[in-house]
Amino acid sequence: MSRNTKIKELSHTRLANQYGGWIYCESCGENIGYLCYTTYDNFIFNYQCQCESCGYIHIAFGDVSSEKISNDKLIKIKNRLCCIHDQSPLLTILKEKLISYQYEIDCLKCQRKYKGEK
Ligand SMILES: [Zn+2]
Ligand SMILES: [Zn+2]
Repeated sequence: MSRNTKIKELSHTRLANQYGGWIYCESCGENIGYLCYTTYDNFIFNYQCQCESCGYIHIAFGDVSSEKISNDKLIKIKNRLCCIHDQSPLLTILKEKLISYQYEIDCLKCQRKYKGEK
C-alpha cells in the first residue's frame, strides 16, 4: 500500500522506517518509542528526552479528513497503545526515557483523534 504524505517534519529525531518504526532521539541515539506505520493518519509528537534534547515529529497523510476528537484514552495491549474502538495498534512511548512529552494521533480505521501527555 502506498500512501501520500502531506506533511513530514522531524526535528532532532530519527525514524527507523519512512513513516514509523522505532523512534530515536538524534542527540543521544536512544530509542524512545515505536510508531506503527500503517494504522495512523496523523501523528504529532513533542518531547524532551532524558538527555535534555527536545524533539518533534509531525507526519500527516493526504487522506486526513476528520477532526473527530475522542475523549477516550488509548488502551495498552502488550506495551502498545491501541485504539480502544478497533484495537488498532498505534504507538509505544518509552516514558522512562523522556522528561516530558505530548502527542496527538489519529486512528486511520475509525478516524478518532487521541491525545496524551506527561
Ligand atoms: Zn536524547
Ligand atoms: Zn480506531
